[in-house]
Amino acid sequence: MKDLSFPSSGEVAFAGRSNAGKSSAINTLANQRRLAFTSKTPGRTQQINYFGLGGEKYLVDLPGYGYAKVQKTEQQRWRIFLGAYLETREPLAGLILIMDARRPFTELDRQMLEWFAPRGRPIHALLTKADKLGRSEQAQTLTSVRGEISKWGSGFTASLFSSLKKTGTSEVEAVIASWLAIETSASRAKFAAPGSATGQSLLEPPL
Ligand code: GDP
Repeated sequence: MKDLSFPSSGEVAFAGRSNAGKSSAINTLANQRRLAFTSKTPGRTQQINYFGLGGEKYLVDLPGYGYAKVQKTEQQRWRIFLGAYLETREPLAGLILIMDARRPFTELDRQMLEWFAPRGRPIHALLTKADKLGRSEQAQTLTSVRGEISKWGSGFTASLFSSLKKTGTSEVEAVIASWLAIETSASRAKFAAPGSATGQSLLEPPL
């Protein structure tokens, strides 16, 4: 992809609606890895943030979408940028689709799936704010989201997550580790590798 030439040997992108809990989820995962947090203004992410995992492997925080107060022209630019990134970014190993467990599969979530699913690389639906649902609602939601996501591609997965309660972390960590071929047993040390402990804002969208 022409505008996105940042060298990477493998990356996992996090996409989601604004307010779905994407930053909190990345924080929860990154904090466990002792990576630094790059702050942002809600709804106004101006760049995508790369979180180093060592060995030129990264977690990529994509701009949230669907924020009502963002101007139409800006929304359109982000759509073009996100679409191009998801359709063409070569080191992109898999997509974590962040969805509020109470409102999965909005129209824009489906757009992300339409862009990325045809590439034949894996997608994991991470259902955030699970703490807001009761036990049986959680189970029902997980079953229905697993059914829906599996229609988009074989081996596509889903799990429940709560940044508040810190639940569901090991499941998504295992998914990311397998996509990036990071050894699970050594992943804690690798994720916290010296020199990689900085969330970097390295890329500007082609505005
Ligand atoms: P983003 O816009 O997708 O990055 O969303 P944020 O991570 O900024 O979260 C949006 C709002 O949801 C904030 O008020 C968070 O405190 C809240 N939130 C995020 N994750 C959780 C969670 O797991 N449980 C609960 N109860 N609230 C959460």
